[in-house]
Amino acid sequence: MGDTLFGKIIRREIPADIVYEDAEVLAFRDIAPQAPVHVLFIPKKPIATLNDVPDTDAALIGKLVLTAARWAKSQGLADDGYRVVMNCNEQGGQTVFHIHLHLLAGRQMHWPPG
Ligand code: 5GP
Repeated sequence: MGDTLFGKIIRREIPADIVYEDAEVLAFRDIAPQAPVHVLFIPKKPIATLNDVPDTDAALIGKLVLTAARWAKSQGLADDGYRVVMNCNEQGGQTVFHIHLHLLAGRQMHWPPG
């Protein structure tokens, strides 16, 4: 896949407010937050969309979700609750083609989403 701005954030070529990092995952605050807490969890491995995840990366997707949940707990957000979302392609609302999990917290979420 081509490089994206998230690749540039991983390589520290553009700044981001990074809140978590390990060997496989990076998390940073969304530049246009949709909730008081809005953090993007991304794999360092560039994969364009959820459609492109091979079976061999099933554990990586699981790790992304669990990393977000554990970070939420570490921030005291677990009991009140939060939402995690992964948008896929145009109708899913995806704009950056490097998969990412949105973690939204700090306000009441509504369903169905718009
Ligand atoms: P998507 O629409 O693809 O699911 O989510 C992409 C997210 O990336 C959006 O919520 C958008 O605000 C965020 N975003 C876009 N450009 C930047 C940037 O340069 N820095 C950060 N931190 N977030 C960005």
